Amino acid sequence: MLNTLLTRVRHGRRTTSFPAQEPTLPERFRGLPLLHPERCTDGCQGCIEACPTAAIRGEAGRLAIDLGRCLFCPACAQACAAGAIELSHDYRLAVRDRAALQLTPGAPLALAEPLGKELRRLLGRALKLRQVSAGGCNGCEVELNALGNTIFDAGRFGIQFVASPRHADGLLVTGPVSAAMREPLLTTYRAVPRPKIVIACGACAISGGPFAGHPEVNDGIGDLLPVDLFCAGCPPHPFTLLDGLLRLLGRRA
Ligand code: SF4
Ligand code: SF4
Repeated sequence: MLNTLLTRVRHGRRTTSFPAQEPTLPERFRGLPLLHPERCTDGCQGCIEACPTAAIRGEAGRLAIDLGRCLFCPACAQACAAGAIELSHDYRLAVRDRAALQLTPGAPLALAEPLGKELRRLLGRALKLRQVSAGGCNGCEVELNALGNTIFDAGRFGIQFVASPRHADGLLVTGPVSAAMREPLLTTYRAVPRPKIVIACGACAISGGPFAGHPEVNDGIGDLLPVDLFCAGCPPHPFTLLDGLLRLLGRRA
């Protein structure tokens, strides 16, 4: 027992100071793309051809990226010798509208606005979510698990995942919605008491991600459920998720 206590004291505080302090992300972290259309002079279309999910569209000088399809891989940046696309360290990738994920040069991302006042009043200081894995690769789930560890500790904000949809304020969905998961997802949604929210976590849930267009998937949840928050990424970093959830709750501007 004494050893346990001593180890605990030796470890000290491991929980991040986010959101009071901005996080320091590792050098290899790939976040919000930066578009430099002025550097794209020959219109080679190399970035468009390199993109595995057809997330980039446009022509010379008019590039745009659909962050809902983007895997942050970063084949486009590597394909462009002129440096017209860079991947920054900006982890803030959560928005309220699907259309807001269309990234265009010079236009900042419209980060998530809070839920309505009445809904936030009903939620109080706690947000209980039922997570549904609807056919993804489990990468998103690994990051969601991290939300509960001592580093990110989403519980300190009252954010928790619950086993039963009856105990939940909403759903958090990962995966592109495989044919087998379509009905279970809808059944789980119906089981959540009103009012309820829906969060699309990761490229798969937003657009189908790398599975988009496959006959056995639904290309995300957009046409199945009313989505309140879209968290881009493949998978979204825990800070991306925390940032989005806190913005949704009106606890981060
Ligand atoms: S980083 Fe995104 S936009 Fe660029 S190639 Fe990869 S998936 Fe496509
Ligand atoms: S968005 Fe990426 S990490 Fe998440 S389930 Fe789909 S493929 Fe996996």
